[in-house]
Amino acid sequence: MDARIVVVGAGPAGLCLATALAERGFQVDVVDRQSAETLATPPFDGREVALTQTSIQLLQSLGIWRRIAEADKAPIARARIMDDAAAGFVADSASVARDRLGVLVSNHVIRAAAWEAASTHANIRFHGDVSVERLETGPVSAAVGLSDGSRLQARLVVAADGRFSALRRMRGIATSTHDFGKTMLLVRAHHARSNDRTAWEWFGRGQMRALLPLGDRLSSLVLTVDAAEAQHWRELSPEQLGAELALRYEGRLGAVTPESTLHAYPLVATWAHRFAATRFALVGDAAIGMHPVTAHGFNLGLAGVRHLAGAVAEGAVRHGDPGHARALAQYQRRLRTSGALIFAGTQALAHLYTDDRRRALPLRRALLQAGSRIAPLRQALAAHVTADLPLRESPLRHVWGALRALRPQPRTVGRTRGFQDSSLTG
Ligand SMILES: Cc1cc2nc3c(=O)[nH]c(=O)nc-3n(C[C@H](O)[C@H](O)[C@H](O)COP(=O)(O)OP(=O)(O)OC[C@H]3O[C@@H](n4cnc5c(N)ncnc54)[C@H](O)[C@@H]3O)c2cc1C
Repeated sequence: MDARIVVVGAGPAGLCLATALAERGFQVDVVDRQSAETLATPPFDGREVALTQTSIQLLQSLGIWRRIAEADKAPIARARIMDDAAAGFVADSASVARDRLGVLVSNHVIRAAAWEAASTHANIRFHGDVSVERLETGPVSAAVGLSDGSRLQARLVVAADGRFSALRRMRGIATSTHDFGKTMLLVRAHHARSNDRTAWEWFGRGQMRALLPLGDRLSSLVLTVDAAEAQHWRELSPEQLGAELALRYEGRLGAVTPESTLHAYPLVATWAHRFAATRFALVGDAAIGMHPVTAHGFNLGLAGVRHLAGAVAEGAVRHGDPGHARALAQYQRRLRTSGALIFAGTQALAHLYTDDRRRALPLRRALLQAGSRIAPLRQALAAHVTADLPLRESPLRHVWGALRALRPQPRTVGRTRGFQDSSLTG
């Protein structure tokens, strides 16, 4: 059996998938437009990723977790969710029967560790500094044509090329896209007062603030603002930035000194209508690109890695074909099942807390007040900050269902439900 698989995109999802497939004995070609040198030492990009226990276990099994230094793993002890009128509540790790709510690791650190694991694996070949110009899929095999003129043929091509995936478009897969019209700003900063290892999510009129604790007096500070305001923040000197942040956090942190540059991300959520087609699959942000408010994007990407690697292995055993249509259909079903609820809940929360029209405000207040009194709701709301999901699916479904019902009508709509089931013949 020819068990070659091409993975396009050496981001965290693509590298984790390549390693998971290589560990199962498949020969994997990984393609990225970045060079091996850049991928080995990726620059700081502002993102601090809150990892769930399930994600950590997968990273452990792939030999990635042990490549991350202990000093780069920041535990979250508590989560505080509040609004401008100081309504809100605190959830701690005891309330979810764990020793911590989650672990924060910088995205560039995850990328470097995932690269180290993949680039040293005997079953993985890397093609850097090239992009994919052509995609061919047929009943027996698929191939990609690269910008250096070479062509890679395989039983399966996987697109892990991010939320604006060029391969998804080449394959003709429609995607629901919602542009929130907001920008998320992130900066690492030292501050005079302790953060008490508490993650904050702080909802206010016209803005969302968050704090991710990286050390006692070191945090990632996160602001969600509109595009014009983002431009203003980008133009500040480090001193001005520190002074504005201290004001924006209303003195709760004391004096603030930026440790990193400011990073800006336009907030756009995407959901591909199909996660698989003939000899082709999508994984990571290429399949589902989440709003970061619930900190679940990469966690869901890893769930996709687990589902796809499992389905491909099953395809090889049962049908002698890692890209068999039934295996890909199974992957699509599993990812839809694990992704639909969390994506819809995230969209609902993001709308509720970025909508400043009068009717949204009492709903927000009511939700926070209810959270301070009702333990399961408090846990569900804390879970969206900490990326850990302590609840069984059924109560979580009720909470997300309620959030969907409360959701104000968006200005432009990205469909989040009722995606067509597609056959894998297209
Ligand atoms: C501000 C912010 C905070 C976040 N916080 C969290 C969090 O707390 N928890 C969490 O779980 N998730 C979080 N996320 C989400 C998480 O960062 C993403 O889900 C994850 O990085 C996506 O990884 P990926 O490999 O799918 O895509 P990417 O990281 O986008 O990688 C795509 C790769 O494909 C390559 N590529 C693209 N096009 C081509 C092409 N045509 N040819 C060849 N190569 C190509 C690129 O060079 C890149 O290496 C956050 C996201 C943001 C924006």
